[in-house]
Amino acid sequence: MNIILIGGPSVGKGTYASKLKKIYHIPHISTGDLFRENIKNETELGIKAKTYIDKGNLVPDEVTIDMVKDRLSKEDAQNGYLLDGFPRTTAQAEALESFTKIDKVLYFTADESVIIARVAGRRICKACGAIFHTTNIPPKKEGVCDYCGGEIYQRPDEQPEIVKERLNTFQEKTKPVIDYYKEKGLLAEIDANRDINNPKFRVIEDCQEVLDQLKA
Ligand SMILES: [Zn+2]
Repeated sequence: MNIILIGGPSVGKGTYASKLKKIYHIPHISTGDLFRENIKNETELGIKAKTYIDKGNLVPDEVTIDMVKDRLSKEDAQNGYLLDGFPRTTAQAEALESFTKIDKVLYFTADESVIIARVAGRRICKACGAIFHTTNIPPKKEGVCDYCGGEIYQRPDEQPEIVKERLNTFQEKTKPVIDYYKEKGLLAEIDANRDINNPKFRVIEDCQEVLDQLKA
């Protein structure tokens, strides 16, 4: 089963991907990892990509597409894959179709308020890196790490206004791709509202319901 995973910042996509890959025994292919691997192993495509990245430019579509194509042709992806971070544009989606067949697109969504509450409440210890949350996992003493007594701070990119901005940017950029797959009847929206008090929080079960239909 050839699956695309789409989800905005902090929706938990990485966690779901790692669970799904174990359930279905198919690789999780993230374009971020793909770039890092190709660059590290100094493949032809990696070297090409690096020349753009080093200059602070975007890697052109054709390089990214070739990288994905090359990865999907590998042995371990022949029974399926979870593709993550690609396609980001409809042009990329069309290119993808020329060398593989997508069976389903899982689109993880959560309310803005839920994401913001989760992310904006996160606090990290400067000294040991321990993670706290102002409402879910508060430290015993405000501003102080339970484990090492270090100072607890909020990452600048996790402030509510910044999170909101990142969510908006994601939605704007991704909408054409979402619409593209919706029109093809391939889109399955998965409710990823991650409220710890939400008894219906069953993201993986919902994914399985969708994916198991593909096998039948
Ligand atoms: Zn600490």
